[in-house]
Amino acid sequence: MKQYERLLLENKAWAAEAVEEDKDFFNRLAKIQKPDFLWIGCSDSRVPANEITNTQPGEIFVHRNIANMVVHTDLNLLSVLEYAVVHLKVKHVIVCGHYGCGGVKAAMTNHNFGIINKWLRNIKDVYRIHRDEIDAIGDDEKKTDRLVELNVIEGVMNLAKTSIIQKAWKYNQAPHLHGWVYGLKDGLINPVFEMPANTRIDDIYEYDDL
Ligand SMILES: [Zn+2]
Repeated sequence: MKQYERLLLENKAWAAEAVEEDKDFFNRLAKIQKPDFLWIGCSDSRVPANEITNTQPGEIFVHRNIANMVVHTDLNLLSVLEYAVVHLKVKHVIVCGHYGCGGVKAAMTNHNFGIINKWLRNIKDVYRIHRDEIDAIGDDEKKTDRLVELNVIEGVMNLAKTSIIQKAWKYNQAPHLHGWVYGLKDGLINPVFEMPANTRIDDIYEYDDL
């Protein structure tokens, strides 16, 4: 059996099992999706949103990129955010990083990664803002892990700076924003930051006429 064929075979088994447990499983899901959560996570294969939160298909709308970045010019992320907030009306947006993130580690080096440099530049900017705090940490692994946390916090704040979130806060008092960090070593999520709807942000980022 070819390597990829295992996935197709497992898919058949999974679909059969899902119907065996609940005969309307796919009929129900095929009609509508009504997730309460938008998940912005890292592309890392070890951090799958549904598995680590023990949720089912249909429960979480997912966007993933290297190091779970919230970049205000990223059309892909902004489209996902707009769709999730305006059309699906999710109640919570979660930015979930993970300790030991390869993208964050790479950003802390001076290696030239080619095209990926442009993406990692965004993490280097987070490091620059928090350089004093991170440089005061002696251990390299702990340095990376603190930058992972700060990157998640900056990501949540970047969400609040978008007109998409500000408009939703003004008219719907939702969604609530969360910054979480997943531990690869213990499988546990550490909530590190929260911005309930209508949290005040630095007024230079606030839009009028929403
Ligand atoms: Zn990662």
